[in-house]
This record gives sequence, structure tokens and C-alpha cells, in this order.
Amino acid sequence: MNYKCPWCGSEKAQIHLWLKDEFLTQEDFQIYECKSCGLLYTEPRPNKEEIGKYYKSEAYYSHQENKKGLIPRLYEAVKSINLKTKYNLATKGMQKGKVLDIGCGVGDFLCIMDKQGWETIGIEPSKEAKEIAEKRLNHKVLKPEDLQNLETQSQDLITMWHVLEHVDDLKEEIHQIERILKPKGRLVLALPNFKSYDSQFYNIHWAAYDVPRHLNHFCKESIVKIFKNSELELVNTDKLGWDAYYISYMSETFKHHRLPLLRGAFRGMISNCKARKSNEWSSRVYIFERK
Ligand SMILES: [Zn+2]
Repeated sequence: MNYKCPWCGSEKAQIHLWLKDEFLTQEDFQIYECKSCGLLYTEPRPNKEEIGKYYKSEAYYSHQENKKGLIPRLYEAVKSINLKTKYNLATKGMQKGKVLDIGCGVGDFLCIMDKQGWETIGIEPSKEAKEIAEKRLNHKVLKPEDLQNLETQSQDLITMWHVLEHVDDLKEEIHQIERILKPKGRLVLALPNFKSYDSQFYNIHWAAYDVPRHLNHFCKESIVKIFKNSELELVNTDKLGWDAYYISYMSETFKHHRLPLLRGAFRGMISNCKARKSNEWSSRVYIFERK
């Protein structure tokens, strides 16, 4: 079957990996590498009607609240440190203003921003997560289709924490972000990096491939190409260092190894040590400024 790159439309692609949805359905998928722009994309790509079934899981931690047990507790503790890191990364050198968090989940990041005096808008596709976020933030959270109705040049900051890899229409999403951001406004993207050590080590079991929930897979080079002709200028890159541990732990569970927590912690540590030299962190953060 001939697939098209969802970014540049090129049909020149080669198979990067054959892998399974090890998290939920055990169905087979492929990841293709576009020979023209370098983007990696998942095929077959579930359509809007099909995608919902791949998200239906009690174990989808990012939408869970107050669960007991060691792993969820550890997850909560790390999440809290991660949130502070996210806040510092996103707001460094900025005045308080308006922030839009696309894929806000249960509203963790927006709650911090709200406490710090920012005016917050959230967008979230999951009905359950959206309802929790609305209660916590005490205001309405929007659906993805509402993005196009947001006022032009109205936001100082747009954040997408591990969201662009889930987005089906990359062109439209980036176009809307360009439109909504104020001149000199900031876009912060956090994305898994398939060039990281933990990605190479776990290969088809690397949890951050997360097919078919992750439709797109990025590295710095493909990000640079994708944003090259946009109104958004890449001004800095950073990392979310804890993600190497979490992704390594999840990958260990996919491999059905004993002591996944210990093994994951060890592998995450090696990944971060290597990234200090190579800069290929498991999760990279890209900071853009609207021209
Ligand atoms: Zn392409």
C-alpha cells in the first residue's frame, strides 16, 4: 500500500519499524520514515471514528487522579517535580499573560499557571479528563475543534506537552498556532525523541512510540524542517529529564521483564548520562517565538 507523508505529502518512504500496540490492543502497526522531510509516521492511521477505542484504558495514567499503589504514587511524585520544570521552562523571561494549553488533560499545568496569575484556556479531546479539568479550573475547557474559533493573535503562550505526536492534521494545527499567537508570543512543544538512547535500546518496545496513539514521531532535525517556512522560529531547546525513567520503566513492562522499576531506573539513568553529551534526550522541549 502507498502511504503519504502527513506533513509534506511525499510518497517516498521506507519502513522504519514494525511494531505492536503493546499498551492496549496488541494490534500490528508500522512506522514509516518520510524520505523527503524525515518525519516518522504511524500506519495504518486510525481515522477519527476509530481512534477513540485506542484510548479506552484504565491504565492511561495521564488522565488518572488519586490512584493508590506504588507506581501511581511514584508517578504523582515525579509529575509534581515535572510540573515545576514545565512551569520554569515555559515562562522563563516572560511577563504574566494569556496561556493556551492544547491537550491539557486533567488540567495539571493550567492549575499551576492559574495560581501564578495567568489567564488560562485549555483544550482537551477526552470527555472525562475535560470534566475534571473544568472542575479544578472553575471554567470551561474547549474541544479540539474550538481551536479555529479562538481570536487571532490573542495568546502570549501556547503549550503542548506531549501532544503534537497525537495530532492528525499537523499543517492545520501549526497554521492555527501561528494565527492565535501574538507577535513575539511563545510556543512550547515537548515531544518524545526517537533518536534518544532509550529509543535505540528498546527499539520496537520503546514505550514512547505508543502506536497508534502517537501518529507522528519526531527528532530535532524533522522539527527544524517542519517549522522552517512557518512564522515560528526555534529559539531554544531543552529537556524533560524524568521522562527517560518513566519511558524506560514502561518499555520494561512491555518486554515482560522482572523488576521493571529497577531496570527502568537504570536504563533511564544511562539514557540521561548519554544525553548530556549527545543532547538526544528521551523527551525534548522545543521553544519557538512567533515572528
Ligand atoms: Zn514528509
